[in-house]
Amino acid sequence: MVSSLAALRGPAVTLVDDPFAQASRACLQYHEDALVLIEDGTIRAFGPYAELRDTVPDGITPEHFPGHLLAPGFIDTHVHYPQLQMIGAFGAQLLEWLDTYTFPAEMSFADAAHAERVAKLFLRELLRAGTTTAMVYCTVHPHSVDAFFAESERFNTRMIAGKVLMDRNAPAPLLDTAQRGHDESLALIERWHGRGRQLYCVTPRFAPTSTDAQLEAAGALLKSRDGLFLQTHLCENPGEVEWVRELFPARSSYLDVYAHAGLVRPRSMFGHAVHMHEHDFCTCHQTGAGLAHCPTSNLFLGSGLFKLFEATDPRRPVKVGLGTDVGAGTSLSQLQTLNEAYKVAALAGHKLDAVQGFYLATLGSARALGFDDRLGRLAPGHEADICVLDPHATPLMAFRAGYCASIEELLFMLMTLGDDRAVRATYVAGQRVYDRDRAGDPFHLPDAA
Ligand SMILES: [Zn+2]
Repeated sequence: MVSSLAALRGPAVTLVDDPFAQASRACLQYHEDALVLIEDGTIRAFGPYAELRDTVPDGITPEHFPGHLLAPGFIDTHVHYPQLQMIGAFGAQLLEWLDTYTFPAEMSFADAAHAERVAKLFLRELLRAGTTTAMVYCTVHPHSVDAFFAESERFNTRMIAGKVLMDRNAPAPLLDTAQRGHDESLALIERWHGRGRQLYCVTPRFAPTSTDAQLEAAGALLKSRDGLFLQTHLCENPGEVEWVRELFPARSSYLDVYAHAGLVRPRSMFGHAVHMHEHDFCTCHQTGAGLAHCPTSNLFLGSGLFKLFEATDPRRPVKVGLGTDVGAGTSLSQLQTLNEAYKVAALAGHKLDAVQGFYLATLGSARALGFDDRLGRLAPGHEADICVLDPHATPLMAFRAGYCASIEELLFMLMTLGDDRAVRATYVAGQRVYDRDRAGDPFHLPDAA
């Protein structure tokens, strides 16, 4: 097979370590003029252009983005693709929100053609936001998973997704049973897990909509193959936490419900975790489970304020990723999500700096997913999922950028004022699949491998 080569050139940033564990300055790598050399979808070299220019093979002209910022593609650790049609719905907290908006929206996915339409739009909106990997809830319908993975496979994006498991406390058309949910999940695992870049995630919605039997079946599914993921919700809203206490009186905490079923482990991602006790954080630290911080959702539904700096306390750090949680979240842009994460931290008396912010949206999320050996960084051996940020995307941003004296200031401006308009292009496995400025359709399916 002939190897495919590509090269990108321009200012570049990447995280190299955890700024919640050490000084931010030591964790950010910045080159004013960098080269990223890509071979067969993987980064082969990354560093100053002046040092690497001679390694570019004859016939390869780097795509040059002066005045922009090359960065690792964003990773979204918690998002519901079927909820695009209800983003920004008015006036409900979590449990009422589910009944009023979420369940009716998810019922419309009984129609496979609807699922395909929404999956196409969703994938494109992720790429428009510079997001190249997401951990995604589908609906209870197996074909909702097929529709999503099929579209992801067309773009060759690295996605993690699964069929929602619910066997109680939801409308009848959205219920499976412990056995049926298990069997349908297993068939999807066989069809999709490890096919190209697609990975399966066992997906009980949350404890109130699954019986003990279904949670145990989820635990059995996790053991059925290597490398499977788990996603669910945890401690999002006080009313929900109280309901879980009533439904599972024998368990010592909400997290203990999942631990009892064998669901708390590496590659498990718990959404929200707003109302957590110290012993819950200790359990996550000891087991290697991750938490998805979803600030736009937590503010929009009035759920509460995630204790980011308690979770990441270096004495017993918990792995934290960043999630949009659309449709309760209000944007698919991780830049906008960081804008709100900063404010949530500020309300608790903390300062989320730009290096910490970009860590959460890239390498930190990759670590929370157990994927930092190949995602979340610009580094040799990593998959070449790259977004090209434009600090001059709007007149205000261009004006403000003129007053940024350091890369940290520029990144902070991007995470405060930026959104999908600030994403100039998105590369997946080394191929440009989105170009904001291309006339006509800005999306482009990659050449077949
Ligand atoms: Zn969610």
